[in-house]
Amino acid sequence: MRTNLLDFTLPALTEWFSGMGEKPFRAKQVFRWVHQRGESDFDAMTDLAKSLREKLKEVAEVRVPAILDEHRSADGTVKWLFDVGVGNGVETVFIPEDDRGTLCVSSQVGCALDCQFCSTGRQGFNRDLAVAEILGQLWVANRRLAEMAREGLPYRLEAASEGATPKPVTNVVMMGMGEPLNNFDNVVAAMAVMLDDHAYGLSRRRVTLSTSGVVHQMRKLAERLPVALAVSLHAPDDELRSRIMPVNRSYPIAELLAACRDYLERAPRDFITFEYVLLDGVNDAPAQARALAKLLRDVPCKLNLIPFNAFPDSGFARSKPEAVSRFRDILVEAGYVATIRKTRGDDIDAACGQLAGKVVDRMKKRTVRIHREAA
Ligand code: SAH
Ligand code: SF4
Repeated sequence: MRTNLLDFTLPALTEWFSGMGEKPFRAKQVFRWVHQRGESDFDAMTDLAKSLREKLKEVAEVRVPAILDEHRSADGTVKWLFDVGVGNGVETVFIPEDDRGTLCVSSQVGCALDCQFCSTGRQGFNRDLAVAEILGQLWVANRRLAEMAREGLPYRLEAASEGATPKPVTNVVMMGMGEPLNNFDNVVAAMAVMLDDHAYGLSRRRVTLSTSGVVHQMRKLAERLPVALAVSLHAPDDELRSRIMPVNRSYPIAELLAACRDYLERAPRDFITFEYVLLDGVNDAPAQARALAKLLRDVPCKLNLIPFNAFPDSGFARSKPEAVSRFRDILVEAGYVATIRKTRGDDIDAACGQLAGKVVDRMKKRTVRIHREAA
């Protein structure tokens, strides 16, 4: 099997090149071809010596997950299903807006954390995605969207920095399938490439990681690569949160909020985004909005209220529109910035928590333990 160049950060590629007796600047050239220009054909890398191109053709390749399915929504949202082996698929969604193009990227095949309202969680956990499979989603999305833009479809291309190749994806959110912090090393390596000026050149504010609150890993992320952070809260008290999000039994709310406050010392933005999915009759009462307002008093934050996206046998229902706006109003009156997430791509099931993919569960969910580690 040839070495997949999408698995490398620039330092790792440089080391791999030096193992072949090649100079560091050669690694940089190839890295730029692959990520900045989206090139996978070594013959097209015309500023490399022919002998190096021939050598690379023998030992290396740019291998991306195959597209099993592609859907375009009436509102311009695009969803892909990628083949990640034996019966498994992960999903990626592109959401175009006036001033940006956001790609929602998956980090695992399934998820072990078993949040009750999440269809990925319901499917159980199969495996972590490799760096190349995480970056492959971005690489393929940029390429496909640029093709669509050339066909006259309304996707705008933006250069991350002067001289860089204009691309449709300007922002990445690690909010697809899986808990990104449970695939820490691969997610951090992939995000490092997203930030690298020789690759995608996205600033740390344009890459957001969403976590259900794996506290010891949040602390590690603050040290290693503090990108913008979103935290899935979904309940104003431990009793309810533990019921709908088992991760809360290992990392209760007080520990989570302390980690959020500490994260802000390193974060590229001066607030944490809290996500709160509104579940009819479960967490959407006015008293719960008031409890939430009290709870978050000491954490600089914004609140993103997400209408629940139903899936078969979920056992939950979307909150009534009146309950959603009342919940928002209470938070706004208490001085918070609280927005209701627009549902996009509804016609193609591209919304949060609906990224079902196809997961063959290899692990019995009930046997999964969330190990606490010293922070
Ligand atoms: N594992 C990470 C990131 C992926 S989930 C996390 O939990 O944060 C991305 C967001 O979608 C999370 O806030 C998650 O709670 C939310 N979500 C999950 N299922 C949902 C559903 N059915 N409807 C709406 N949002 C959902
Ligand atoms: Fe996993 Fe996030 Fe879904 Fe919870 S909400 S099961 S952490 S993907």
